[in-house]
Amino acid sequence: MKDSKKTARKTFLPFSRPTIRQREIEEVVDSLKSGWLTTGPKVARFEELFSRWSGGQEAIAVNSATSGLHLALLTLDLRPGDEVITTPLTWPSTVNNIELCGATPVFADVDRDTLQIEPGQIERMVSPRTRAVIPVHFAGAPCDMDPIEGICRQHGLSLIEDAAHAVGTRYKGRLIGSGCELAVFSFHPIKNITTGEGGMILCHDHERAERMRRLRFHGISRDAWRRYSKGGIPQYEVEEPGFKYNMLDIEAAIGIHQFNDLEGFNKRRRELAENYDDLLSDIPEIMPLGRVSWPHVHAWHLYVVRLEIEAVDIDRDRFISELQDENIGTGLHFPAIHLQRFYREKYGYRPGSLPNAEWNSKRLLSLPLYPMLTRADQEDVASAIKRVIARHRR
Ligand SMILES: *Cc1c(COP(=O)(O)O)cnc(C)c1O
Repeated sequence: MKDSKKTARKTFLPFSRPTIRQREIEEVVDSLKSGWLTTGPKVARFEELFSRWSGGQEAIAVNSATSGLHLALLTLDLRPGDEVITTPLTWPSTVNNIELCGATPVFADVDRDTLQIEPGQIERMVSPRTRAVIPVHFAGAPCDMDPIEGICRQHGLSLIEDAAHAVGTRYKGRLIGSGCELAVFSFHPIKNITTGEGGMILCHDHERAERMRRLRFHGISRDAWRRYSKGGIPQYEVEEPGFKYNMLDIEAAIGIHQFNDLEGFNKRRRELAENYDDLLSDIPEIMPLGRVSWPHVHAWHLYVVRLEIEAVDIDRDRFISELQDENIGTGLHFPAIHLQRFYREKYGYRPGSLPNAEWNSKRLLSLPLYPMLTRADQEDVASAIKRVIARHRR
């Protein structure tokens, strides 16, 4: 074993911290002083940046990825009994939105080593009622999109990519979000770039994009900025009942500068991930995720590891709390959602239904990973892990 430090770090190391510089602060102050706080010119600029970056996709800024996924699903006009296939290892909103649109979520198990949704499992779950597939590019690595697109084409299914972890991810050279039917990014503070809260839909089809633009603002055909700026008209027309999902200029002000440094942030995340690979390599009880086998660029949103619970006398939850006592914060991405109370009770899922997701669900945790993290912080994480394991090794 490499030398490990004998005692816990003095200050708490948070699981996540956004990188906010003077330029983001000044841009927000500029918005505050300008008199225009809500959706306006900065949101338009932020959308334009994403659209150009994606090679001309329609870009629709929203107040969260959750809202973006909701709008995307609404455009399918789902009916009770319709089914949408997704992964059990995702944030609740992916699945909640399917339920809230009146459809039935159907789970395809993941690969045990990479935690990416398995195309073969998707195929197995397709039924005459299937309407869409929502793959999640887990942790910032891409799903195997070629076979997934093939299945969707063959069965006439919509393909909505939950790209909350995948700003900057590439699959076989192609940027996630470019040239695809629809992808949704998240700018929650733990994600690779942030706007405080926020999300972006990239979408190929213009009509569908226009409908989502309406639905994000009450279902009316003109947004406030255009109504109240010079030359705008205050009249509006409700086309269908919509939501209040628009992004603020205050938020886009942060996002514009974050987006400009996306490559630098992701490069730093990649270096930190390599450091963890190295620092954890002599801890047999800790298993990092396997790398996907197809050509890709990883956005390294998360560094997920699995604890070999057979080798220690504590479970993962206790492991997390002992790391907390060592002043190390960690995350949980994700406990399998089919076993969460609502889904378990409504659909009668039992342990054993999705073996790979469940196997991982009991063992996984995410280590701190963000641009401001230092190699010394990572050494603290590794030595804390070693101390906790040494106390509990069977
Ligand atoms: C964070 C996350 C979301 C939701 O993003 P918000 O912007 O917080 O709504 C959706 N899916 C996945 C996989 C996520 O990690």
